[in-house]
Amino acid sequence: MKEIKRNNKVRIAKFISQKGVTSKAEIAAELGLSMPTTLQNVRELADGGVIQENGAYESTGGRKAKALSISPDVGYAGGLDITANHITLVLVNMKRELVCKERLKLSYENTFAYYEEMGKHLHSFLDRSGAEKEKIVGIGISLPGFVKKDEQLLLSSHVLNVRNVSFKNLEKIIGYPFSLENDANSAAYAELTGSSRNTVYLSLSSTVGGAVYLYDRLYQGENFKSGEFGHMVIERDGRPCYCGKKGCADAYCSAKVLQKLTDDNLEEFFRRLGEKDQKCLQAWEEYLEYLAVVVSNLRMAFDCDIILGGYVGGYMEEYLPVLGRKLMKYNQFDLDTSYLKTGKYKLESSAYGVTMDFVEKFFDSLE
Ligand SMILES: [Zn+2]
Repeated sequence: MKEIKRNNKVRIAKFISQKGVTSKAEIAAELGLSMPTTLQNVRELADGGVIQENGAYESTGGRKAKALSISPDVGYAGGLDITANHITLVLVNMKRELVCKERLKLSYENTFAYYEEMGKHLHSFLDRSGAEKEKIVGIGISLPGFVKKDEQLLLSSHVLNVRNVSFKNLEKIIGYPFSLENDANSAAYAELTGSSRNTVYLSLSSTVGGAVYLYDRLYQGENFKSGEFGHMVIERDGRPCYCGKKGCADAYCSAKVLQKLTDDNLEEFFRRLGEKDQKCLQAWEEYLEYLAVVVSNLRMAFDCDIILGGYVGGYMEEYLPVLGRKLMKYNQFDLDTSYLKTGKYKLESSAYGVTMDFVEKFFDSLE
């Protein structure tokens, strides 16, 4: 009985967090709870400082109800995204708002000195954020590779050029509970939180990866290796891939393919592309042709929305129409390409997404 009661409270708090702003009537209707149950839980959550009532909420048709939202300072979760040459830090509150962010250059190496430096940046960032230390529930760490979450182990990362790196002994350096997650999965969480739609997330960064989000959860695969779209073969006997095979999507659709023309600077590539630089135009045309093949295959396999994310995804918005036209060549099933989307969180998507685990845990632990 007590557990059912607690369960309702957790569900209500999570619902409010996902909605941003809502009303008692909406909670009762959406969660299928009676009004007395809803009222009692809302009162308890407000008394506990978890939620607040502020202003009026315009519900459809009826009179204006009181607006309920999560108190912005009831708790925080940190996110740390490690890439080959940068770390990105974010702090997110329990309303799932990005409170602050920072991206800085720090070249990865699997040494104690690196992790110590990383920890220093993390703590300085959290101090400057102004969030009370005891309100930070944990730090999510996003990594470009295969991750074994329950063992806090980075199994392998091509981008970081390491295997079997245990993060277990970093407890002291991090100083908070922490968990590891793959970067593409994290970015997918960021883009899909609160979404009720099945979605495939295609990450177009230094490597090509992705994540499959079905029925409100990530499909991880039997060996935590689902969504490795970069190693789908799209050209028989094609370009060599770093994995040892030939013709993998990665060899055609990673950001590296583009930025190798501009000293490994993707921003510069798109700047020159905008200026109609011939070489960039040609490379981009070819890139989009192959990307259309990948996207078309994913659409055929999953029949759902596809988000183009990662570094290249961050520039994709204005090129969606041209990619759409290329796609239609391969796809006789769809009448249009409105299933194709770009992400909301550009460079922060992985750091933001990896905090969501702790946001959920915060609500799960409500008494
Ligand atoms: Zn490959």
